[in-house]
Amino acid sequence: MTNKVIRPGDTIGILGGGQLGRMMAVAAKHMGYRIAVLDPTEDCPCAQVADLHIQANYNDLEAAEKLSEASDVITYEFENVDLEVAKRFEEAGKLPQGAYSLEVTQNRSKEKSVAVEADLPVADYAIVQTVDQLHEALETIDFPAVVKTISGGYDGKGQLKFEYEEDLPKAKSFMKDGGQYIVEKWLAFDHEISQVFTRGIDGNMTFFPIGENVHRHQILHETRVPATVSSQVETKVQEAVTRLAEKMNIVGTFAVEMFVKDENIYINEMAPRPHNSGHYTIEACSVSQFEQHVRAICGLPLLPVYSFASAVMVNVLGKHRDILLSKLEEYQGIHLHDYGKKDSRMNRKMGHLTIIGDNLEEIDEIIANNNIHMW
Ligand code: ADP
Ligand code: MG
Repeated sequence: MTNKVIRPGDTIGILGGGQLGRMMAVAAKHMGYRIAVLDPTEDCPCAQVADLHIQANYNDLEAAEKLSEASDVITYEFENVDLEVAKRFEEAGKLPQGAYSLEVTQNRSKEKSVAVEADLPVADYAIVQTVDQLHEALETIDFPAVVKTISGGYDGKGQLKFEYEEDLPKAKSFMKDGGQYIVEKWLAFDHEISQVFTRGIDGNMTFFPIGENVHRHQILHETRVPATVSSQVETKVQEAVTRLAEKMNIVGTFAVEMFVKDENIYINEMAPRPHNSGHYTIEACSVSQFEQHVRAICGLPLLPVYSFASAVMVNVLGKHRDILLSKLEEYQGIHLHDYGKKDSRMNRKMGHLTIIGDNLEEIDEIIANNNIHMW
């Protein structure tokens, strides 16, 4: 890997042109970088702010080659990019994040193994391929449990929860022949949190405040900062993610989702990129998860992170967007982000809101007064 410094005027190539790519691009733009993006969708969120849009599928090798030629450094906005393409970029010295963290995070089985090897707790789990194997695994894991596809899932997609043994027949239509699945104990956690951090090429790390995540139907609804965790848990979280980051030699912004129960942490999921639960950093921190990511992959020193006392980020899904846009002039004290997506679907992430305050009570009042709690 080269430790080349990428300078203003140079081009950052982004695999994937959704909202994460767009917010990376915006952060990079104010530092004077140019942006090339590879994404199959015309006028996708990132293409709207990029200098060059290569409109092609992610596994189109010719298009990937074009992106590489146009870019001085390459990053990605999601983990399901073609691993072969990522390896080529790494060999060309253009992917400082490396392909390994992608390989791990695009596979729930490898992700769990890395956590276990790092001696970090995870929910009891087993890898299964057939309904019979699932039944057998559940004899020890017990109910409630959740079965997830090994790769490709997001926002609760590719998951099936079993409350009771009586729910098991549902597995038949969910599990496809030849598919690989992970079955996990469903943890009755006290809190769900995420630690977003950045690691530079030099190995230095900075941590954003831990976010507390509130999911609705397995989709992130709100991230609240500060999280309601003790300083002991905070220490455990920092130690855990540092271990993971060093083990995987992470470069860039990275997120680890965790459950907290009885002051213990359990690793749930990792994302080798900026994360939805870190969007609040745009307004609430002196440097955002996106700017810090750009600095890391460009070989610049990371900035210290200072933050406001409290912040809440609320996701705007397709089902919320019309209400939001029609009442925009009435909302008080709310930062708006709209991703410019043309195709609005019920549960698709279309934008987000951020509210800053002295404390969470004050922010909750703003949310209630603006009727956002009704969503
Ligand atoms: P993804 O975010 O890729 O859809 P996750 O594994 O993070 O997949 O699952 C989505 C959400 O479902 C989690 O954030 C959490 O709220 C809930 N969930 C998933 N697995 C478990 C589990 N084992 N115990 C309790 N809740 C879970
Ligand atoms: Mg998740």
